[in-house]
Amino acid sequence: MKKAGILGGGQLGRMLLQSAANYPVETFVMENDPFCPAAHLCKHFIVGDIRNYDDVLNFGKDLDVLTIEIESVNLEALEELERLGVKVYPRPEALRIIKNKILQKQFYKAQGIPTSDFIITSGLRDLEAHQSFLPAVHKLALGGYDGKGVELLRKKEDISKGFDELAVLEKMVDIKKEIAVIIAVGENCETVIYPPVDMVFDQRLNLLNYQLSPADLPDKVFWKAEAIALKVVKDLKSPGIFAVELFADLDDNVWVNETAPRVHNSGHHTIEANYSSQFDMLWRIMMQYPLGNTDHILPAAIVNLIGEKGHSGPAVYEGLETVLEMDNVFVHIYGKENTRPGRKMGHITILSNERQELLHKANQIRHTIRVISKD
Ligand code: ADP
Repeated sequence: MKKAGILGGGQLGRMLLQSAANYPVETFVMENDPFCPAAHLCKHFIVGDIRNYDDVLNFGKDLDVLTIEIESVNLEALEELERLGVKVYPRPEALRIIKNKILQKQFYKAQGIPTSDFIITSGLRDLEAHQSFLPAVHKLALGGYDGKGVELLRKKEDISKGFDELAVLEKMVDIKKEIAVIIAVGENCETVIYPPVDMVFDQRLNLLNYQLSPADLPDKVFWKAEAIALKVVKDLKSPGIFAVELFADLDDNVWVNETAPRVHNSGHHTIEANYSSQFDMLWRIMMQYPLGNTDHILPAAIVNLIGEKGHSGPAVYEGLETVLEMDNVFVHIYGKENTRPGRKMGHITILSNERQELLHKANQIRHTIRVISKD
């Protein structure tokens, strides 16, 4: 039986393990927190720091295949593991480009992939010198996640909100829609594409509000999004699952925002809504099986369960039973003991042929369920 490791034990690891249960694979997870969402679903749980060279090397050296559920892993250890013959998905070379937002933007530019214009800044003083570049978005080169490490700088008074360390300053795009395209790349570079997804953001928390799949796009935007996403993954030259986040602007131009070299939040609906989910697909890739079918069974919406403002402590899911009474609604709770304001605690998938019904139920669910703490 193949031995497969996952670096990181969050909800993505948890959902990967739910799919792994269908295949002949022995699973290993490494993460600092022994109570993390993936800890109890794997065969072997190892406490360790995914950013530490020795921890990652020791974890991976006896495995056949290894994947990540977060980009902030020790890259040098992955490179060494690849040299030792461990199959790493994505390939460390692709992760190296993606991990650093500067390298990522430079890669798009070098490959002729449309992405907003940018400048590299090493501190606030650089920002002052580039006032004429505003409105723009300032992004930390390393370590940003879930909207942290991203600041919108609309006017020169906003410059003090920028980062006083290595970062990239991108021209602000007039976004009409944020789209994600998930692509699976097999061992022999064969690819399959999931239908594009509409992502609707909560501007205040900078977290996903809800998403719809397939995205409702003019044909022209749809084809551009697919073609651009496909070029990104082909140029990264790595097997694995990739989520390409794109912006469609007011003139129907399509720009790459960023790429995740792993299973992604924008693909959770594929568990129920598509024949082969993104999680199933990654196992097919890692086990070197044929790729699965990405077609959708029914259109879907997703609502994220986010920790309520003002609540920290043991999580309680108020309104859960009311949601469970609804038809064609699927609840995923990630098993995090404690809630915090803005923390991702779960998601709910809705299936329907009717777009209106998807939107109606998504709103109903958003107003019904709350993640709070009774403490
Ligand atoms: P993260 O990786 O933390 O999610 P993103 O790079 O996706 O960060 O940026 C977070 C959000 O900021 C995006 O979803 C988008 O709404 C906004 N944003 C990012 N880059 C730009 C840009 N160049 N123009 C306009 N808005 C942007």
